[in-house]
Amino acid sequence: MSLVDLAGSFVPKVGELLVVCAHPDDESFGLGGVLGAFVDRGTHVRVLCFTHGEASTLGTDPRFLGERRAQELDAAARALGVRTVKLHGYPDGHLAAVELEELVARVGEEAGGAELLLAFDLGGVTGHPDHVRATEAALAYAAERRLPVLGWALPKAVAVRLNAELGTAFVGRASDELDFTLEVDRDRQVTAIACHASQSGDNPVLWRRLELLGTSEHLRWLLGPPGS
Ligand SMILES: [Zn+2]
Repeated sequence: MSLVDLAGSFVPKVGELLVVCAHPDDESFGLGGVLGAFVDRGTHVRVLCFTHGEASTLGTDPRFLGERRAQELDAAARALGVRTVKLHGYPDGHLAAVELEELVARVGEEAGGAELLLAFDLGGVTGHPDHVRATEAALAYAAERRLPVLGWALPKAVAVRLNAELGTAFVGRASDELDFTLEVDRDRQVTAIACHASQSGDNPVLWRRLELLGTSEHLRWLLGPPGS
C-alpha cells in the first residue's frame, strides 16, 4: 500500500478494499463519496453488509422492507462502481447481540485479497449500536491479519451542528484526530442514495449532513497502516 496525493491530501492507494457496514444504505449515505474516490483511482471495492435494514422506521410495509432494501443495495453498489456485495441476514438493530467471533468469520469470508478495510468510525458516527458492532468486527478481523482499517468520520463541528439542529447523536472528531480529507464526487453519491428510495425520500438529517460537509469527507486510521 502506498500513499498518494489526491486533491492535496495523501490517501492510501490499494488494489483491493473491503467495506464492512451494518445496513443497506451505509455504503451510500455514509461512505458513498469515499468509495467513489477509491473506485476512481482503480481500487477494486467490495462491500459486506451484515443486515437487511428491515427494522428501519422509514419505508412502507415492514414485511417486505428487508427484501426491498437488498435490491436497493445492489442498485446503489452498481451506481458506485462496487464490484461485489455480500448481504447477510443478521437482525437489524441487534447486531451487538451476535457473537463477535461469528461476525469476524463473515468478514474473513469476504476479505479475499483486501489490503485495507473501511468502516464507520468508533462510536458508529450516527451513534447507532449496529454501526459500532460492524466496526468492532472489522477491527477484530484486521487485528488478527495485521490489516489497516480506515474509519469514515465526521468533523466535530459538523456533528455538533447536526445534533443541535436535528436532535441527532452524531459522534464527531477534533481536527487532530482526522488523518485524511478527500474531495468527493457528490453527484455519483446522490445517484447511489436515490437507489435507496425507501430510505432517502424523507431524510432531512442525511441532506443536511451532506450540505454541511460540502465536497469533503474525512477519514481516520482506526488501525494503523503498516509501519505506523
Ligand atoms: Zn446504518
